[in-house]
Amino acid sequence: MKFQLLTLFPELFPGPLGHSITGRALTNGLWSVDAINIRDFATDKHKTVDDVPFGGGAGMVMKPDVIERALLSFPAQGRKIYMSPRGTPLTQNLVKELSKEETLTILCGRYEGVDQRVLDAYDFEEISIGDYVLTGGEMAAHILMDATVRLLPGVLGNETTPDEESFSNGLLEYPHYTRPAQWVDAFGAERSVPDILTSGHHGKVAEWRHQQSLDLTKARRPDLLDKK
Ligand code: SAM
Repeated sequence: MKFQLLTLFPELFPGPLGHSITGRALTNGLWSVDAINIRDFATDKHKTVDDVPFGGGAGMVMKPDVIERALLSFPAQGRKIYMSPRGTPLTQNLVKELSKEETLTILCGRYEGVDQRVLDAYDFEEISIGDYVLTGGEMAAHILMDATVRLLPGVLGNETTPDEESFSNGLLEYPHYTRPAQWVDAFGAERSVPDILTSGHHGKVAEWRHQQSLDLTKARRPDLLDKK
């Protein structure tokens, strides 16, 4: 899968994605990233990428002509995404859908955002990573990319089973435990693993985990149950 980034900070890519599981997958050619600097497509001597908003107000707006030239420098754009707080919320279902694409071109905004006309002209889909405002779209793009790359065939191997993770079945995941089975914490409290997990009874373990998932979801994210 190919990610093409339009950003004022191309040096931020692959950034954290160049490490661990996503980093190995990058080295192994399971995905690639090409980040270009929008500023390289400004034509004036000051390399201007932004200007004051029509209608007044605070902040600056990224210029449509410069973004257009940057966008069209990619021979093929694939699905075009603008990271934006007013976009469709990024969910595991959307991530699954994105992971099936061959090419994603991601526009990272800065300042007050991007001139609406370039978004309209090229049918950018706006995606938000949550109800808060970041200073730029780069970290939002990292999040979208990380969640997408780990679903690509061959990326996770046997390390994780995405089908059992939070959100994939509309529920939060059950709690995990590992050795030692008996652990005394620094406060002197003895903490043991739930007996069912050491019983060797796979059916009962599966039932217990499902119930835990349901209880956690009911307590923390009842909205997910409403959607099921
Ligand atoms: N004026 C914009 C608004 O109120 O919707 C916020 C602009 S923000 C300071 C600058 C850039 O950060 C945006 O253009 C977008 O690319 C990115 N960004 C900020 N918050 C984001 C979020 N929650 N999800 C995705 N991208 C975000």
